[in-house]
This record gives sequence, structure tokens and C-alpha cells, in this order.
Amino acid sequence: MSLEELEALLLVQERDTTLDQLRHRREAMPERAELEARAGALRRAEAERADVSERHRVVYAEERRIDDEAQAVGGRAEEMNKRLYSGTISSPRELQAMQADIDMLLRRRSDLEDDELEIMEKREALDGELAKLEATIGDLEATVSALRAKISETEIEIDDETAREAAARADLAKPIAESLLRDYERRRARNRGAGAARLVGTTCQACHLTIPSTEAEQIRRGAGNVVSYCDNCAAILVP
Ligand SMILES: [Zn+2]
Repeated sequence: MSLEELEALLLVQERDTTLDQLRHRREAMPERAELEARAGALRRAEAERADVSERHRVVYAEERRIDDEAQAVGGRAEEMNKRLYSGTISSPRELQAMQADIDMLLRRRSDLEDDELEIMEKREALDGELAKLEATIGDLEATVSALRAKISETEIEIDDETAREAAARADLAKPIAESLLRDYERRRARNRGAGAARLVGTTCQACHLTIPSTEAEQIRRGAGNVVSYCDNCAAILVP
């Protein structure tokens, strides 16, 4: 083990820290949280649209049914009216009965037309609701796809940078003995990413706590022969 290896280890640590930051940036991209929120809103709007569409379908079918019936009743009234004035019927009693039937049919048609007007208002309100939902869904779809595009773009950037950093890290790690590198990696995994740190004066630069000056002196004297560790965070100390 040499001082050069320890110095190289610090450079590896720098790259590893950058790689950790890149990983964090990739995972914690603010667009991800926004995408999740917007995609959720989109799903809710689509579910609401399905619900309103179904209500619309039922109301519209009822509107058609009432309209058909109103027209049929009106047609029958018209037919009877023609017969009434055709001159083929002469019995006053029969003519009176026919007139009564016609009046009944016209009242029925008038009632149906009232019903139709009422249900048409309902259907028009649903038309409005659907149009609003369509607009909301359109906006959300645009936002969601823009966010997805932004995320993949940023992912590509980060992945490129990660590949460059990883290659540089691999080069820097070459002169370091396998056992020292493994020791460093174990410590790094336990110490939130810090496996090696510079000892500046009596302060460990990983945890920023100080060690006794006699110990710091010992580490400086032994550097290159023995590997020393921070008492507090267990990082490999490089004088
Ligand atoms: Zn420390």
C-alpha cells in the first residue's frame, strides 16, 4: 500500500460522490412528482368522462324515445283530423267522438313535448360537462406528454454524464489494490457514501469531527504503510 494509492482513493471517492449525486438527481427529478400528480388528475378526469358519457347516453336515449312518441302521437292526431274533415263521416256522434280523441292526442303530445324540453335541458347540461372534461383532458394529456419528454431528455443527459464519470472512476481505481478498494467500498456503503476522507489537521473531512492530535500525528507518520480509519465515521483517512 502506498501514499499514491491513498491519493487515488480520494479521487475515486470524488467520482463516487458525483455518481451518487447523479443517481439522486435522476431519481428525485421534480418532473417525476409533477408527472405523478398530473397523470393522477388525468386518470380521474377520464373516469369522470366515462361516468358523464354514460349518463349522457341514458338521457339522450330517453330524449329520442320521447321525441319519437310525440311525433307518433302528433301523426295520429293529424291523420284523424284529416278523416274528420274528409266528409266521409257524417254521424255527429262519431264526429264528436273523433274530435275528443284528437283533443286527447294533442294534449298527450303537448305533455310529451314538455317532458322532452325538460330532458333536453338535462342533456344539454351534460353536453357542457363533457365539453369541459374534454378540454381538461386535452390539457392534461399535453402536460403529461411534455413532462414525459422532459424526463427522458434529462435521463439521457444524466446517463451520459454517469457513463463518463463511471469510466473516469474505473481509470482512477486501476492503481489501487483490490483489498483496499473493497475495504473502501464496504465503509462507503455503511457511511452514507463516504469511504475515504482527507485528514486536515486533526479533522476528518467526511464527518468533520476532530481526532486527538497525537493520533493525527501517528496517522501521518504511518501513511503509506498502514491504513488508518476515522474513529467516528470509520472512513479511511488520507493525511
Ligand atoms: Zn470521520
